Parts: sequence; structure tokens; C-alpha cells
Amino acid sequence: MAASATHTAEKPSVLEMARQQLAVAANYLDLDEGLHSVLATPKRQLIVNFPVVMDNGHVEVFEGYRVQHNLSRGPTKGGIRYHPEVDLDETTALAMWMTWKCAVADIPYGGAKGSVKVDIKRLSKRELEKLTRRFASEISVIVGPSTDIPAPDMGTNAQVMAWFMDTYSMQMGSTATGVVTGKPVPLGGSLGRVEATGRGCIVAAHEACKFLGFSLAGSRVVVQGFGNVGSIAARLAEEAGAKVIAVSDAAGGIYNPNGLPIQTLIQRYSHREGGIREFTDCEPISNSELLEVDCDVLIPAATAEQIHASNAGNIRAKLIVEGANGPTTPEADDILSDRNVMVVPDILANAGGVIVSYFEWVQDLQAFFWEENEVNNKLERLMRNSFHNVLQSMLQHKTNMRTAAYIIGVKRVADATVTRGIFP
Ligand code: GLU
Repeated sequence: MAASATHTAEKPSVLEMARQQLAVAANYLDLDEGLHSVLATPKRQLIVNFPVVMDNGHVEVFEGYRVQHNLSRGPTKGGIRYHPEVDLDETTALAMWMTWKCAVADIPYGGAKGSVKVDIKRLSKRELEKLTRRFASEISVIVGPSTDIPAPDMGTNAQVMAWFMDTYSMQMGSTATGVVTGKPVPLGGSLGRVEATGRGCIVAAHEACKFLGFSLAGSRVVVQGFGNVGSIAARLAEEAGAKVIAVSDAAGGIYNPNGLPIQTLIQRYSHREGGIREFTDCEPISNSELLEVDCDVLIPAATAEQIHASNAGNIRAKLIVEGANGPTTPEADDILSDRNVMVVPDILANAGGVIVSYFEWVQDLQAFFWEENEVNNKLERLMRNSFHNVLQSMLQHKTNMRTAAYIIGVKRVADATVTRGIFP
């Protein structure tokens, strides 16, 4: 595949990354060439261009996508991202990662992803609602509670899911809560969903620390990204007795070797204009410096390709737990493996979100809702089981955790595809 102008060997496109990761697993599994091509390509890619009347009366056209990668194991599942730099290839890679993520967690879904190329900071609330409703209507030809179930991702939240659910329900003529997950709790959302991804990351971090012979309590943790995943992972790490010594948001990071007060940063700083950088009892650092801070556990929970060939050699963490999707390039993976830095890969580490999305969908279909404790206990159990399956596969195949997770995920999807057979 040709690399586009901005992509280099050092920073391949995320779709190239996703295909390289699949190829490594295909090799271990000795996958048939035809089957490998089925898994390397998405089942459906829908591109929609749709108009929105902005508050100033002008019409703007937005481009959006919904990609369904593989539906051998069930309906497809995956978030909707609003970001100015999304494109079809990135959305396809993210859909592929969802397929493996659902398979590693052994929940009955294939992978999908949606996105709209938009900078939400430019939109009023009314414009955001109109954009969401029109996008929902455009992609409703392929989504539905038993076909493809969206959820929040970067730039979207529970309110966006509520508008999506309402638009779909209006079109169908009856309320269909199961069409999206990550909804507000009074509208069929699940208790525990907002915290689920961060909570899952911390379960994975606990287990990985134990394997490496130290405890998360008392360890030094660095978190890149202070959105839904990063801020909650940082807060739960602090609650578990870890010292969170550096955090960052898109504008940059802050560092204090004695620990940062995460609760205070969430409650008093994260919503300010200047964000967490307005906190003063710390040193300001850049996002790239933050990755190289001396620590025990690094949680990249921002965007893709943050750890690459040029900085992987400088990472001082013993353990990396990927809260984001695709934060580490394949070249960086090799460097980290050689240096014995353990990486709990995205398709395992951040699966907590889609796991509780699955619980939400089950609750919606049954119209019977669970207590928060029940959700959290089931999430923790599933994360722990998935972690230990991957760990076992890692030891058995003498490989790293990413390849071990791919071996499990790809095998489950390949087996389902072969057992179902090819129609007609
Ligand atoms: N967007 C999240 C992810 O990347 C969650 C997807 C979902 O809940 O369906 O895993």
C-alpha cells in the first residue's frame, strides 16, 4: 500500500498500522491468504456529505463516514468521532480495531466506527444538535439495534447519543434505546458507562503491575490526555494509592514529582478556559516531554501515533497501558519489546468502554436495569479474564502482549468467519 505524503515509515497511516498488526497475527496463526484478505478489508464503508444550516443562516456541507469492518460474530459496534482530521482510512482502522477489541473481550459484536470531519469548538449547541441529527439520519440506512450500534468516541458524549437515539426513533416511529450506547442514564444509559474505559484501564494496569512484580499502589503514574478516559484513569489510579506525577490535555502537560491532586484538577481546573495548565503547584511540560518522564506506568489516553520510532527509545516507564486507540506505532512496539517495556495494547486495555456498552445494550433490550456495583463487578471480571487470557497467549507464543491479543482476537473472528462459511 502506498503511503500518503504525510505518512512515513516512522509514522505510517493508522490503516497501515492496523494492517501491519493484523499481518503479524495472520503469520502466527498461519491464516489462509483469502481469509487474511477478508479480515484486512472492511465489509461496508458509507461516505455521507450532508448540509447543515448554521446559526448565521449559511449552509455548510459536512463529510462523515460509517465503516463496518466485520460482522461474523454479531452486529457491529463502535463509536462516533467528531474531529477535524478524520478520514475514511482512519475510520476504517478504528473499525478494524473495534473488531479485535470485541473479540478479545469475547462480547458478541463485530467492529465499526463512524466519524464526521468537524471542529466542534466552532459549533454552537444548536449546530451540534442539527449536525448530529442529520448525520444520524444519513447513516440510519445501515445502523440499528440489531445491525450496528454506535457509541461515544472523541468529540461526542451522552447528549450526542441522546440526539442520535431520538432521531433514529422518530424515523422508526417508536423509541429504540438499543440503537446507541453511552446514552444518559434516564434514557436507557447504563450506570458506570461514563467511567468504564478508564476503570478498565486501571484493572489492566493492576494486573500488569502484579505480573511485573510491583504494586500500582505507591507507583508513579503518568497520563497523557485528560478527556473521558485519561481523567478517569488518573482519578482511579490516585484512588488506588498511585502517585500521578504528570498529566496533560491537548494544550500541554503539568508535572510534579510529588504527585498531582487529580480530584482537584478534574473539579476545579479541567473545565476552565486554560484547562489544567492553570494549576500552579507544578512544572509545565509539553505533551512529548510528558511521555519521557521517569515513571512506572504510562497511560497514553489521547490520540494515535504518540509513541513512535523517534521517542520509543526514551520512554522510561516499565509499563504502558493504552487508553487511546493506536497510540503506539509498530516500529515503536518493536523498540519497546526489545527494551522489555510491557505494553498492554489498546484492544485489551481500553475495552472497558465497549464492554459496558454491551451491558447497556443488553439492559436496553431487556428493559431491565442493573445497579452500578453489578455493572462494575461484571466489567472488572471480564477485564481481568481477558487480561489473563492474553497474558497466557503471550507466554505460550513467546511474544509481546499486542501480538498475543491479536492472536486471540483474530483467531476468534477467523473461526467465526470460517464456521459461518461464505455466502452463497
Ligand atoms: N469509542 C469507544 C472505543 O473506541 C467505545 C465504543 C463502544 O462503546 O461501542 O472503544
